[in-house]
Formats: sequence, structure tokens, C-alpha cells
Amino acid sequence: MHNHSRFSDGLLSPTQLIELAARTGVDAIALTDHDTTDGLEEAAIAASKAGVLLVPGVEISVNWGETTLHVVGLQVDPASKRLAEGLRAIREGRLGRAERIAAALGKLGFSGTLEGALGLAENKTMLGRTHFARCLAETGAVKNIQAAFDKYLAKGKPAYVPHRWATLEEAVAWIRASGGTAVMAHPGRYDLKPMMRDEMLGDFKRLGGEAIEVVTGSHRPEQYAMWRRVAEEQGFLASRGADYHGPGESPIEPGRLPALHQSLAPVWSKWAH
Ligand code: AMP
Ligand code: MN
Ligand code: MN
Ligand code: MN
Repeated sequence: MHNHSRFSDGLLSPTQLIELAARTGVDAIALTDHDTTDGLEEAAIAASKAGVLLVPGVEISVNWGETTLHVVGLQVDPASKRLAEGLRAIREGRLGRAERIAAALGKLGFSGTLEGALGLAENKTMLGRTHFARCLAETGAVKNIQAAFDKYLAKGKPAYVPHRWATLEEAVAWIRASGGTAVMAHPGRYDLKPMMRDEMLGDFKRLGGEAIEVVTGSHRPEQYAMWRRVAEEQGFLASRGADYHGPGESPIEPGRLPALHQSLAPVWSKWAH
């Protein structure tokens, strides 16, 4: 229930992603590109050819205080005006942000990264840090993408540029207005202490958030049990998703993660029969 294509910062086309999922035995898959639903049309065609059920999705970037959160919308309707307008508005700032990232990298001695990142981005309106990381890795400036984040692009590093995304309230409202279900993506990645975590999840729930990711390629396996407990105690449905970005970058392919614990109510119980 969480995968990327070349329409955001994934490496595969939607068709290639669906074909990979069909090969790994997946019966339903969500495409959840960052801040865009543009890949869903192609994904729907590929899914019907492959006999896989497509769950139309999106992963929305959000500011919550100082923290950037990601909220996944599942079963969204890409034709929803409110969702499309909201996503367009948050994508709009990405090019300006990219220019500032490139300028910061320039000061560190890396030139031409804006052109490099743009060249790697199929969807020029969805230029993100991953494209810069790939550019730095390809030119040999860093040994791999992870090193690019660890040294330069992650929060607190010299080429990190803060940005205004959607508010949590907006992201949940857009998802719900389009008929979708709001899922807190990879809650274990936000580095929030338990009190802040509970405040964040409390806000999310109050605003209409219904599920959290428990088993995800963005959690370490030893984190699954804790997030399972949080889902149970705080009354969230649970989601499971690879957060797949492509071969060589994401070790866990769609369909390869362990099942959700049987005590959890899966988010797809809302719509799967
Ligand atoms: P952006 O929306 O442009 O800030 O890019 C966010 C994306 O960068 C995430 O969806 C991940 O794919 C990737 N990313 C963020 N932080 C890291 C990290 N520490 N290590 C590897 N990839 C990361
Ligand atoms: Mn990403
Ligand atoms: Mn994410
Ligand atoms: Mn993701």
C-alpha cells in the first residue's frame, strides 16, 4: 500500500512497477507518488492487464511544527478538484527549493546539480532530494544515495532547505474530500519522542486520519511490534507497504514484507471484500 514510480522519485514506470508486483505475487498494490497522482492513469491500465487490483494513492508532504510528515492517501479519486488543486500548490514550490538546494551544493563545491537532478526527473514538477542524491552518486561526489542524504541532504545537513508543504489538516482534508483514507506514513521515521508522537497522532486522528503504517520498508523489523502496539492502543487501522523506490535502492520489493499481525485491523478491510 505504498510505492513510488518515475512520476515522483521512483525509478520504474507505473507499468514496470505493476509488472514487478504481479511477478512477486501481489494481488493488490497502491501507487503513492509524492504530491502527484499523475502516474495513476498508466498504473490502472497496467493493473487491469496484469490482473492486479490497483489502489489509487498519493503520499503528501506535510509540515507539522518543525517536523516534515508524510501522509498517504489510499483510494483517492485523482479527479477530485480539491485534491488536485492542493497537490499542485505544494508541487509549485519544488523548483524554487531545488534551486536553493543546488546553490547550497554549489557552495560545497558541487556544480551543475540542478541540471543533473532535472535530467534525472521524469516529472519536472516533482523534483526532490532523491534526484539530487542520485545526481551526486552518479557523478561520484558520494559513494551512494544514502551517503548523499547523510552528508548533505538530510535535515540538519548543509544542503538541507526547509520548505512549506501542506498542513496536516489540509492533507487529511484533501484526501477525505477525494473519498480516500488518510494513513500516517512510516511513523517510526520522524524521530519524535513518545509525548510528541502521541500529540502528532492525536492531531492526525482528530483531523480524520484513520490508519498508520506498521509494517513498512521504512521501518526496521524490530520496530514493527512497537507500532503495532501504538495502532492497537490508539485505535488506528494498520497499513503495510514497501515504500518501494526501485531496484538497487529499495531492498524490499512490493509484496515481500511480512504480513500484518493478526490482531490488527488492516486498512484495506475498509474496502476489500
Ligand atoms: P523530498 O520530498 O524532496 O524532501 O524528498 C523526500 C524523499 O527523499 C523521501 O521520500 C525519500 O525517498 C528520500 N529520503 C528522505 N530522507 C532520506 C534519508 N535519510 N535517506 C534516504 N532517503 C531519504
Ligand atoms: Mn521518496
Ligand atoms: Mn515518505
Ligand atoms: Mn514513500
